Amino acid sequence: MRSLAGLTAGMLGQGAGLGVLEHAMRAALAAAGARLLEAVLAGESGYRGPRADCGRGHQGAFAGCRAKTVTTVLGPVEVMRAWYHCGQCRRGFAPRDGQLGVAGASLSPGLAEMIARAGADEVDMVIDRGAFLAGRYGQVFQEIRQVREACGAAHLKVILETGELATLDNVSRAAWLAMLAGADFIKTSTGKVTPAATPPVTLVMLAAVRDYAEATGCRVGVKVAGGVRTAKDAIRYLVLVRETAGPQWLTPELFRIGASSLLNDLLMQRAKQLTGAYAGPDYFSID
Ligand SMILES: [Zn+2]
Repeated sequence: MRSLAGLTAGMLGQGAGLGVLEHAMRAALAAAGARLLEAVLAGESGYRGPRADCGRGHQGAFAGCRAKTVTTVLGPVEVMRAWYHCGQCRRGFAPRDGQLGVAGASLSPGLAEMIARAGADEVDMVIDRGAFLAGRYGQVFQEIRQVREACGAAHLKVILETGELATLDNVSRAAWLAMLAGADFIKTSTGKVTPAATPPVTLVMLAAVRDYAEATGCRVGVKVAGGVRTAKDAIRYLVLVRETAGPQWLTPELFRIGASSLLNDLLMQRAKQLTGAYAGPDYFSID
């Protein structure tokens, strides 16, 4: 705690604003809290002896310990728990998961409650790229499904982080997983990974929402984020939307561009139309 205080005092000395400091401190304390929670949870594995009730009237056999990552309000927490296998049900189970309220879920009850109580009307989540690239599509699907259930009527945006998906086939597969799991919007990127939105990736996502709408009658929105900097870029994307998904998608309910630098360029272009001359970017906000 003292070294944390020293570190943040040093940051303040180097001119970091209080806002930066607050966030750094909060993140550090949450991470420390997550480790503490992990230590507390490690005290009980849910071991019931060599055999345990599977919940459907059979006895499952102990099959070692398995780790599970639970996403909590403090961040991801790893829980080691005793794992049993039921021969009749042909499935594995961990009694501890039932106790903790995370059976078949990776979202902790606290976080699920927080999402519901915040009454957020939009929830953004990023798919687990590690699981996805390892081919654990079921897990990715389940996680999206859980967030979908936890956020109730809120608009769910699923970020594919396409810059990390390596191939366009993967982008298409991730888009379908997200839509089948209940996404209202699929979004290219968080903005933390480059490349962010690119026309080929956007084309694949637009084709996916079009095909999904043909198959199910449900229209899912697309949001491109990062990489769209100028009004000209934006026009290219709008053409792509019209040509690929169709004119129905040319509405804020179904297509959005997330880019603060684009807003600046649009303001500059508008000023140019009004005055006939370009102003310097200094006349406009940077964010
Ligand atoms: Zn059973």
